[in-house]
Amino acid sequence: MTDYRPPLRDIRFALSHLIDLEGLQATGAFPNADADLVFGALDEAGRFISEVVAPLCRTADKTGAKHNPDGTVTTPPGYRQAYKRFVEAGWPAISFPEEWGGGGLPFVVGLAVAEMLTSADMSFSLCPMLTYAADELLLLHGTEEQRATWLPHLVAGEWTGTMLLTEPQAGSDVGAVTAKAIPAGDGTYRITGTKIFVTWGEHDLADNILHVALARTPGSPPGTKGISLFLIPKVLVNDDGSLGARNDLVCVSIEEKVGIHASPTCVLSFGENEGAVGYLVGEEHQGMRLMFIMMNAARLHVGTQGMAVAEKAYQLALAYAQERKQGTAFGAPRGTSSPIIDHADVRRMLMLMRSQIEAMRGVMYKTGEYADLAHCHPDPAKRQEAADRLAILTPVCKQWGTDLGVELASLGMQVHGGMGYIEETGAPQCWRDARIAPIYEGTNGIQAADLVARKLTIGGGAAALGLLAEIGGVAADLGADADLAPIGAALAKAVATLQEAGTFVLTRLMESPNDALAAATPFTEMFGIVAGGWMHGLSALAVRRADPEGKDAFLQAKIGTARFYADQVLPMTAGLLGAVTAGAESLFAVPVESLGG
Ligand SMILES: Cc1cc2nc3c(=O)[nH]c(=O)nc-3n(C[C@H](O)[C@H](O)[C@H](O)COP(=O)(O)OP(=O)(O)OC[C@H]3O[C@@H](n4cnc5c(N)ncnc54)[C@H](O)[C@@H]3O)c2cc1C
Repeated sequence: MTDYRPPLRDIRFALSHLIDLEGLQATGAFPNADADLVFGALDEAGRFISEVVAPLCRTADKTGAKHNPDGTVTTPPGYRQAYKRFVEAGWPAISFPEEWGGGGLPFVVGLAVAEMLTSADMSFSLCPMLTYAADELLLLHGTEEQRATWLPHLVAGEWTGTMLLTEPQAGSDVGAVTAKAIPAGDGTYRITGTKIFVTWGEHDLADNILHVALARTPGSPPGTKGISLFLIPKVLVNDDGSLGARNDLVCVSIEEKVGIHASPTCVLSFGENEGAVGYLVGEEHQGMRLMFIMMNAARLHVGTQGMAVAEKAYQLALAYAQERKQGTAFGAPRGTSSPIIDHADVRRMLMLMRSQIEAMRGVMYKTGEYADLAHCHPDPAKRQEAADRLAILTPVCKQWGTDLGVELASLGMQVHGGMGYIEETGAPQCWRDARIAPIYEGTNGIQAADLVARKLTIGGGAAALGLLAEIGGVAADLGADADLAPIGAALAKAVATLQEAGTFVLTRLMESPNDALAAATPFTEMFGIVAGGWMHGLSALAVRRADPEGKDAFLQAKIGTARFYADQVLPMTAGLLGAVTAGAESLFAVPVESLGG
């Protein structure tokens, strides 16, 4: 039994009308990425995911991953077989270069597969997500030998990857990492220390795990400047490529968590004996810079998790709202019992879900398109523009997408009434699973600070202004169409509000940085709402072109959804402006000693 239906038509619409798939193919980097092949692959991925992965989600949540006394971890029943089939079908590699065994499709197409996999079972999806981040790192910064040793196995999904930053004293403050890496004299290092919260750090799905970890070499400067990046395999690889001895690391325990129960979150201890063998990536002390390559890819994936889990929550809520009858809706014959979907407030909740999920999907995919263009556009100026927009939108996707994911999963529970609090419906699992996404991969507070302090300042604010000008252009195009003009007016107003907020933040960043930091979270949310309005504007314009006579119900619903977003969501930007421009003073007005009452 599965309660997930891949929204293939919505995905296809976003890839056809909100991003320029043909333009990506025209760069020459993705010769196979014609629409027929891409959509055929997505249909097939959707079928596989809904038939093989989605049915495991509920029982895997109940069973969870199990830590055994010998340090091994057993995944829930069915996971091993499903992962084997996932690998055999080639899904881990769909957006990786063909020379390494990948499918050669754009990153954004892989993101669409990741969306479906996450909706089907977020726990399961985390393993390939982290492996992909390790693949990217090796492709860009591994030595020839490191790539040859690891990439073919990782890309194929035969081995998996992890990302190890966190230690008990080093969470948001990664510079506090103390794991040690001592040169062994043969070009390798011996690693000692403890890493916590390692997602998929130990499991039984694959024969080997490549841990990508931050550690300090002797005499390194304090803080992030003294951190280096190491590959630390669970099982050492012999010169002939065969698997050798176990490395000196062990999974001490796994965490009992609110959600994602089937994803083992591990405490790993390195070097309890002679020291774990580690291989340096790049040069010493470059670790943070290199780790950001993994983190940026992962942050966009995590933003997509918020949208993907909200999509599943929406599907459950929509089905329930059509079945459940309560009261008599306004306008229904007296004495009849109406499905709750006919009540205005239930419809409001469902439309808030639907419209914001479509907004998020558009923004995530658009950001994925910038990730592709930043690598492969033949024009260096276009590459730079795409890189700047990717940099700006990545923290927006992570913060806005994941906070909204939790909010919409909660709304999904609300639609169910009392049954929303009962596990049997599946609605609470969406909420429990979604709740980690604002926390990991850099908390949302850190994302918001990153946007205001590092990204908004790109080109002295010119990159963000260029993006806002483009969104303003879409608002003007909407204004030229009488039916769409109200959407255009709401978008133009929201853009002006965001620009006012951005000017405040940039000015305060120079004069009184704590005011800018106090504004960071509401400002990032505002940015996400406006970016979502941009996507709805593009959708409405595309529908006008594709279905001018209004005959296609699916397409016309896009215009109705854009109208709702313009009426109910875009005006929230005005409400956020006060919080953005209030400054830090009232945040600190009550002294710490008085906060307890
Ligand atoms: C289920 C799960 C899986 C995880 N998987 C991984 C993984 O695979 N690899 C890995 O390395 N880590 C992983 N993590 C760790 C995760 O990334 C960290 O928990 C997260 O980065 C926050 O660090 P922390 O828990 O130490 O919180 P803290 O850093 O102590 O933060 C506490 C609060 O203070 C705020 N805060 C801290 N510093 C600042 C600041 N400078 N400005 C503003 N606010 C601030 C934070 O936003 C947060 O609200 C995982 C965690 C969990 C729970």
